[in-house]
Amino acid sequence: MLKTIPRMRIEAAKDVFELIGNTPLLQFRKLTTPFAPVEIYAKAEWYNPGGSVKDRPAREILLTAEREGRLHPGKVILDATSGNMGIAYAMLGAAQGYRVTLCIPANASPERLRILRAYGAELILTDPLEGTDGAILEARRRYEADPERYFYADQYNNPANWKAHYRTTGPEIWEQTEGRITHFVAGLGTSGTMMGVGRYLKERNPAIRLIGVQPDGPFHGLEGLKHMATAIQPGIYDPDLLDEILTVSTEEAYAMAQRLAREEGIFVGISAGAAMAAALKVAARLREGVVVTIFPDAGYKYLSESFWLEEDR
Ligand code: PMP
Repeated sequence: MLKTIPRMRIEAAKDVFELIGNTPLLQFRKLTTPFAPVEIYAKAEWYNPGGSVKDRPAREILLTAEREGRLHPGKVILDATSGNMGIAYAMLGAAQGYRVTLCIPANASPERLRILRAYGAELILTDPLEGTDGAILEARRRYEADPERYFYADQYNNPANWKAHYRTTGPEIWEQTEGRITHFVAGLGTSGTMMGVGRYLKERNPAIRLIGVQPDGPFHGLEGLKHMATAIQPGIYDPDLLDEILTVSTEEAYAMAQRLAREEGIFVGISAGAAMAAALKVAARLREGVVVTIFPDAGYKYLSESFWLEEDR
């Protein structure tokens, strides 16, 4: 049977800043059937103009810094990023007329590097063996060598990162579930998403359980997520806020990303596959509840990953 198509009212937007947020909360058709009557939803964050959840903290960080006088014309925006935050800075920097310099591990996917260059960002490629930590150390070195030149956005330690989610993502999830959410599941990178959404939800209803998602070891393919036990801990990360941490392997995340594409028609990135795998683990333990997770980005930036390439053969 054909679905009726609801008409969305699209407001006129003045610029890309205004296109950020208010993303749809997605339901599923098949993957979640075995878990009924538990309801499972995901925030479709690739609807943001830069294509990921990171548009939210990038906007908050830049606007807060401008308001406080730390960012003004002539300053260069500097940070370390595994990709999505960089894309968000590059997009918003271009719109606002700022130059953007990003320290990024040299093994970031070619799609990401090309997108960043398309927005005109200057890229400093760091040692892939040092991962995002190597990129963070390089950004710090550059800032310390020339603090007048740069606005060092420092997403790992900047409270505007989690506040973006406290102000936008959290309230959206609360409204979209009409306050019925019982479990929130999110991958931990900078942890900004979990810290902001988690704090907001706990304030609304302390019974809501917060479940963080982690890779199962330091060498993993869950781009955007951090193995907290062995990485530089983000200053904004407060493990005490969480009720639980679940680990997901790279293989589980890949397999779930493929299932989402093939069984639901939802083509998402690897960390979204990890988030869904964890959300289903949570749902499997429940008799009823409303589980919400985050799909940070779409699958396009990961097309050169070997698990998709194998399909070509
Ligand atoms: N998934 C992807 C693809 C990301 O780029 C990020 C951001 N690093 C995350 C998940 C984690 O989000 P957060 O930094 O808010 O913890």
